[in-house]
Amino acid sequence: LRIEYRKPESVQEDKCSNRFPVSSVGAASAKVAVGSHVWVEDTDEAWIDGEVVESDGEEIKVHCQSKMVVAKVNSVYPKDPEFPELGVDDMTKLAYLHEPGLLLNLKSRFNANEIYTYTGNILIAVNPFKRLPHLYGNDIMEQYKGTDFGELSPHPFAVADSAYRKMINEGVSQAILVSGESGAGKTESTKMLMQYLAYMGGKAESEGRSVEQQVLESNPVLEAFGNAKTVRNNNSSRFGKFVEIHFNHMGRISGAAIRTYLLERSRVCQVSDPERNYHCFYMLCAAPEQETERYKLGKPDTFHYLNQSNCYALDALDDSKEYLATRKAMDVVGISPEEQDAIFRIVAAILHLGNIEFAKGEESDAAEPKDDKSRFHLKVAAELFMCDEKALESSLCQRVMVTRGESITKPLDPGSAALSRDALAKIVYSKLFDWLVTKINNSIGQDPSSKYIIGVLDIYGFESFKTNSFEQFCINLTNEKLQQHFNQHVFKMEQEEYTKEEIDWSYIEFIDNQDVLDLIEKVTYQTELFLDKNKDYVVGEHQSLMNSSDCSFVSSLFPKPREESSKTSKFSSIGSQFKQQLQSLLETLNTTEPHYIRCVKPNNVLKPEIFENANVLHQLRCGGVMEAIRISCAGYPTRKPFNEFLTRFRILAPEATARSFDEVDACKKLLAKVDLKGFQIGKTKVFLRAGQMAELDAHRAEV
Ligand code: ATP
Ligand code: MG
Repeated sequence: LRIEYRKPESVQEDKCSNRFPVSSVGAASAKVAVGSHVWVEDTDEAWIDGEVVESDGEEIKVHCQSKMVVAKVNSVYPKDPEFPELGVDDMTKLAYLHEPGLLLNLKSRFNANEIYTYTGNILIAVNPFKRLPHLYGNDIMEQYKGTDFGELSPHPFAVADSAYRKMINEGVSQAILVSGESGAGKTESTKMLMQYLAYMGGKAESEGRSVEQQVLESNPVLEAFGNAKTVRNNNSSRFGKFVEIHFNHMGRISGAAIRTYLLERSRVCQVSDPERNYHCFYMLCAAPEQETERYKLGKPDTFHYLNQSNCYALDALDDSKEYLATRKAMDVVGISPEEQDAIFRIVAAILHLGNIEFAKGEESDAAEPKDDKSRFHLKVAAELFMCDEKALESSLCQRVMVTRGESITKPLDPGSAALSRDALAKIVYSKLFDWLVTKINNSIGQDPSSKYIIGVLDIYGFESFKTNSFEQFCINLTNEKLQQHFNQHVFKMEQEEYTKEEIDWSYIEFIDNQDVLDLIEKVTYQTELFLDKNKDYVVGEHQSLMNSSDCSFVSSLFPKPREESSKTSKFSSIGSQFKQQLQSLLETLNTTEPHYIRCVKPNNVLKPEIFENANVLHQLRCGGVMEAIRISCAGYPTRKPFNEFLTRFRILAPEATARSFDEVDACKKLLAKVDLKGFQIGKTKVFLRAGQMAELDAHRAEV
């Protein structure tokens, strides 16, 4: 056994005030009894539990499994002596609502393959990193259909069902916001939600290819072009997505709209090891031979845009099968064979484009294709884009400047030509992605007469890299905004619970205002500074080159800008577009009733059965779960139905409770006897302030 001295933690850590209230009101009656079980902080495990073996009122010695720890009384949390082995399906059912309790609960459930847990009506989903097919079949959907929220095990189907029924019964649009860090399981959860909504709102099979099928099949198409393997996730969505499902007065799906946000463009020409570029590139290289021949494609490692990384194949993913599956999904969402051909021709052209290298010409510094190999790829790229080879070359190697009405052609040096090439690849790819989204939207169709929608938001979580680019900034801004939205909602739900139980919540209101104010002060960013760097206009030469393509698909991606709009579009930027998109997303969300799913990634090695405490805790803190708990801790974090309360504490006042047949009366008498202050009696539950449960347990231990 080792002895460790623990410093009292700073106030910042004290997010949840459910510790023993040593220095607060009621301190005199609270103590950590020798023999009781507590949680102490630990550098490796975040929290470990043990039995108190010595106490002088301020410091205690705790016998943990692997070591002896000395800690300040006010730095430890009480451990529930009656914690159920498999945990509880709702955090608010925990006797002690504090960090180590939450963590133990998630972990116990995770180990039993119970990956879903509620915190009130927020669903926490821990990624199992293994298939759990018994959780998701049609029979399971049938079970959740129309069942009260909380009656069955926590599940995304229950969230979707609750949203669907609220929409039908109350006539209010709903939104389900799925968040979490990369690889936490947002996209998988989103797909389950969509699967359930399609199940509930679908038509009979005899009605043929249906809207809901198209909505579901939009996923593989968008994933092929917008997902990639990253270090955090083998199938990482590199764009944000809000799917709006429209329902008619019968509760049937009548249309849908998909909005996407900020596709990561830089990945098209820049991949770092061991990541991959977008899936579609590898799929196409693995396509049936007649196609790879037609597009003059070879192995992925022969292409510069792919061979910057050493990762080509993925475990458990067969690119040739994915190619065929993507083609099928494209059929379902209404992309014609001709359009599909054009799409993959463009994908191939981008690969060839990336293989054009530049060198100085013999007589000047002006860039030209470096060698025969580069000339070959230039020729093939031009063929595939169906544009003039010479025109492609000059659009990469030259810039036309217009000064005082005169246009001057300026040659570029090899470095600038390579940048120009990459810029062309990125803009073509991003236009292609936008085309796919628009096409899917057009073929699914929107229902203008639909009164209600259910929106599902799958947007990447906070990101922090060594260098935080503009894209990270936009992502983080979105998250801040959504977090604010979330906090306000959690607070409202809390209020509703108090109102339902007819207890006083004036104290809570005060706390929340402070919370919201703090948040708004965290949220100030200087967006304008970024805008300058993020001009989003197409280089004129690229625009006219692509517009002149003999392929109508290619030229339609680059329509001639209208005279009056050309000026303004020059000044539009990714930032300002995104700001508008975010604004409109928040406006939509504000008209809906929100539901939340917080996804948690249990480890960074993407493997099953591994639950890393500190890692999970960090996500709970960042993802607002702790924040939600904090809001409830500010009021009455412990709620126990009268009968449960009596069962646990009857022993403290056997005489008072024995003579009473009225549960409320018995609870009141019991609480009076132990001289507790500040609690409230609701209509069905006792509401205790932070720390009071520990006080009662301490009394109980003494009896
Ligand atoms: P990103 O932000 O990078 O897009 P994400 O949160 O969308 O990440 P997902 O792609 O949904 O993460 O999940 C990552 C991987 O984790 C999935 O490809 C799958 O292997 C696994 N996974 C996630 N959820 C589940 C689940 N419920 N059951 C089984 N496996 C899952
Ligand atoms: Mg995703």
